[in-house]
Amino acid sequence: MKSSVFFLSFVFAAASPSFSAAELKTVDDFRSAAAKANAVLTIPNWEQSPKAVEAMMNGAIAKANKGLDQIGSQDLKAVTFKNTVVALDDLTYQAGLAANKAVIIKETNTNPEMRAAGENTIKIFQDWAVSIDYREDVYKAIKAFADTHPKLSGEDEKLLNETLRDYRRAGLDLPPDQRKEVEQLRKELSKLGTDFDTNIVKANAPVIFTKADLDGLPESFFASPGVRTGDDAYTVLANVTWQFNTVEENAKNEATRKQLYVIRDTLAKEANVPVLNQMLALRNKIALRLGYKSWDDYQTEVKMAKTGANAGKYISDLVTGIQPKFESEVAELQKLKAADTNDPNAKIEVWDWRYYANQRDKQKYAVDKEALRAFFPFQNVLDGMFNIYQSIFGLKFEKIAASYKWIDDLQLFMVTDSATGEPLGMFYLDMFPREGKFNHFAQFEIIGGKLLPDGKYQRPTVALLCNFSPPTADKPSLMTHQEVETLFHEFGHALHSIVTRAKYGRFAGTHVPGDFIEAPSQMLQNWVWEKKVLDTFAADYRDPSKKIPAEIIKKMNDESFSQLIRARPSFHISAT
Ligand SMILES: [Zn+2]
Repeated sequence: MKSSVFFLSFVFAAASPSFSAAELKTVDDFRSAAAKANAVLTIPNWEQSPKAVEAMMNGAIAKANKGLDQIGSQDLKAVTFKNTVVALDDLTYQAGLAANKAVIIKETNTNPEMRAAGENTIKIFQDWAVSIDYREDVYKAIKAFADTHPKLSGEDEKLLNETLRDYRRAGLDLPPDQRKEVEQLRKELSKLGTDFDTNIVKANAPVIFTKADLDGLPESFFASPGVRTGDDAYTVLANVTWQFNTVEENAKNEATRKQLYVIRDTLAKEANVPVLNQMLALRNKIALRLGYKSWDDYQTEVKMAKTGANAGKYISDLVTGIQPKFESEVAELQKLKAADTNDPNAKIEVWDWRYYANQRDKQKYAVDKEALRAFFPFQNVLDGMFNIYQSIFGLKFEKIAASYKWIDDLQLFMVTDSATGEPLGMFYLDMFPREGKFNHFAQFEIIGGKLLPDGKYQRPTVALLCNFSPPTADKPSLMTHQEVETLFHEFGHALHSIVTRAKYGRFAGTHVPGDFIEAPSQMLQNWVWEKKVLDTFAADYRDPSKKIPAEIIKKMNDESFSQLIRARPSFHISAT
C-alpha cells in the first residue's frame, strides 16, 4: 500500500591506493555464506538506456498488477493471511525495487536523458502506487480476511492493522464518488511533490564574484575546481551546499553573503511557488474529505506524535525552552556585528549568523574550522568511521568489486556479521558533487530487507549520495568537522537499513515512523565529539603524528553547547 520511503546520506573518497579491481572479492565470494544463513544477496542490474529504464518500470508494474488480480479474484471463503496481506506486501515490495532504482538513476546518472527517464518512470510508479489503494477487489479480499478475526501477533498483527489503516486513509470507507475524488487528488499531489523536488535539483545558480567580494575566504576555496572562471571572476554555485557554507561563514562583505543567501533561498522560486500553493490546497482538501480536521492530523496519525496538536505542542515547548538561550546568542553576535560595522544598531540578519558565529568561535573558542580540515582527510575519516562502527556493532565492511559503476570513483562494500560471517548487505558510496547529481547528503534504499516467499531472507543494498568538499590538484578531500559529523550521521541510516531482520518490506530498516527515523543516526553522530574517538582517525594529513589538541576538542564541545543556531546538513526525501 505504501510506496517506498527513500532516504539519503553520506561520503566518499580519494582513490584508495591499495586495491585494484582485480584483487577485490566479488559478491559471488559471499554467496555460500549467505546461503548458509538462508539469505540472498543482490547487486541490482542497472539499466543502460532510457528505453531500458522504461521497460523495467513497465515490466514491474505489469507483474504487480497480475499479483493484484490474483488477490482480488480469489474465493473470499478461502482467504488466508498469506494470500491476502502478505501477498500484497510481496508485490508492492517487488514493484518498489524498480522505483528505488529509478530514483538512483534520476539522482546520480551522468547522462541527462537517463536522469529524465528515471524521473518519468518515478511519476508512472507513483501514479500506479496511488491507484493500487483503489483496487476494490483487493480491498474486499483483505477485508474478508480481517472479518475472520484472525489471531495474529507481533509483526503479523501490525501488518494487518496498518494495511487496513492505509485503506481507510485512502478513502476506501467513503461512498464511491468521494473515494474517486480522493484518489484523483492524491495522484495530483504526488505528481506535484516530484515536480517540486526536481525543480530544486535542476536549479543551477552560478553567481560571479570578484576576489574583493569574497575577501575572507580561505585560499583553498579559490583553488577548488571550477571556482576561478576569469581574470578576476570567481563562480560560486549557490545550489552547492559546501560552496554556499564556505562563503556564508567567511565572506567579510555583507552584500556578498546576502546576495548568495537570497539566491540559494529562492532556488526554483518561479517554478515552485505555484507548485507549493497547489500542494497546500490539495493537502487540505484531501484531509477534509477523509474526515480529518487538517493535513497535520492526517500526517501525524501514522507517526509517533499521533496528532497535529501533539506535534504542535512539542514544537512550541521546544521554542519556549530555548528562547532565552537563542536571544542571548543573537545578542552576542549582534555585539560583534556592531563592532565590526561601527554601527551600534546593526542587526543580525539571516545571512549574517554563520559569519559572526564563525568569528565568535575563532575569538572565543579559537577554533579555526578551516584549519581543522587538515585533520580530516576524507579517506582517513572513512576508514576511521568504519573501524568505529565495525567495533560497536560487531560488523565487518569489505570493499568489493562493483560490476557496474555510474561514476569511476563509486565504491561498493559488503557488510558481514564479524562473529558468524553472515553477509548482511551492501552499500554504495558516491561522495562528491557533480552536475545534475542530487545535491544534499542522504541514504537511499535500493533493495530493502524482506523475507521472500521462498523462505529466504533478501539482504539489503543501499547507497549513500553525498556532496563533500572534493579533492583539489594538490590536496586530498579535506572535510570540515561538520562534514565528519554528517558522514557519521548518514552512515547510521545505512546501518539502520542493512542490519534489519524485519519480515515485511514495509517495516524493514528505515521504514519506521517518520519521527523515529532520525533517532539512530542522531545518537551515532555524537561519536565525533569525543577525543578518544577522534584520535583513532583524525590526524594532520601533512604529519600524521599530529592529533587534534585536547583543548581544541574541549573548545569545540563548549562551542557546540553554546550554539543553538547550527545547521545540520542532513536531509531525507520521503515519497510515501
Ligand atoms: Zn538523517
